[in-house]
Amino acid sequence: MEVAVTVKEVRDQVKEWRRQGLSVGLVPTMGYLHEGHKSLITRAVSENDRVVVSVFVNPMQFGPSEDLESYPRDMDRDVAVCKDAGAALVFSPEACEMYHDGFSSYVDMDTLTGGLCGKSRPIHFRGVCTVVAKLFNIVVPDKAYFGQKDAQQLAVIRHMADDLSYGIEIIGCPIVREYDGLAKSSRNTYLNDTERKAALILNKSLLEGKKLIEAGEKDADKVRNVIIDIINTEPLAKIDYVELVSWDTLEPVKKISEPVLAAIAVFIGKTRLIDNFIVS
Ligand code: AMP
Repeated sequence: MEVAVTVKEVRDQVKEWRRQGLSVGLVPTMGYLHEGHKSLITRAVSENDRVVVSVFVNPMQFGPSEDLESYPRDMDRDVAVCKDAGAALVFSPEACEMYHDGFSSYVDMDTLTGGLCGKSRPIHFRGVCTVVAKLFNIVVPDKAYFGQKDAQQLAVIRHMADDLSYGIEIIGCPIVREYDGLAKSSRNTYLNDTERKAALILNKSLLEGKKLIEAGEKDADKVRNVIIDIINTEPLAKIDYVELVSWDTLEPVKKISEPVLAAIAVFIGKTRLIDNFIVS
């Protein structure tokens, strides 16, 4: 497995693979890789001849008061994880390689990005779309892999790939959880022992909501209120949002009659965690 730090190295490698008639998969990440990331890489390896994993903490998707500086990093471990999972190339550019002096072109989306995480993180999806568009242009993969853990991001990237005619198949992969149900996240490392226990309230509340829907509840507000009430039993939890939205438009629904995304963002202490489920 190779590690590339420049766009040119990636382009040259991919050109060589294409010359050999090989298919290419891409797994974009911000590193500090865990089993969730690994599940994406493993899936990509099973469906493509060669897999590129990008490891880039993208400054453009962080707001001014967010955790860009403290975001956990461990490049040596990430390289080992990628190698172990069967990736062929890790792309880990410096920010100046992705955003040269005078950089001023962005990918923006009018729909899908205003609600959920977009409400409290107004510049986030512009940063995500721009960096993923760049990665698509650099790697030009056949398929790209994203986790349902970041469900809004998955929907946004699917929409962007379609709008901008990338011709890249966007593959959504299931949420990987810790043994006790907490969705795996690089940000879980911010939690102390008490917060780690408190964080279980996210999955617990969602499981109750899901149970209600599976028992036939069609009123989205009722389900939403049950989730909210359960989260509020945890003193360390502060809700950013709890929403039931159409999985197609990401607009809030009143009635559960179409595929619905139940998505939550909750602060546990200073750490903002997200989780969700989709009912089809
Ligand atoms: P990140 O490094 O957090 O930007 O995540 C990179 C990719 O891994 C995104 O597509 C995430 O949705 C995905 N991912 C992160 N955590 C998980 C998880 N627990 N299960 C599945 N996919 C995940």
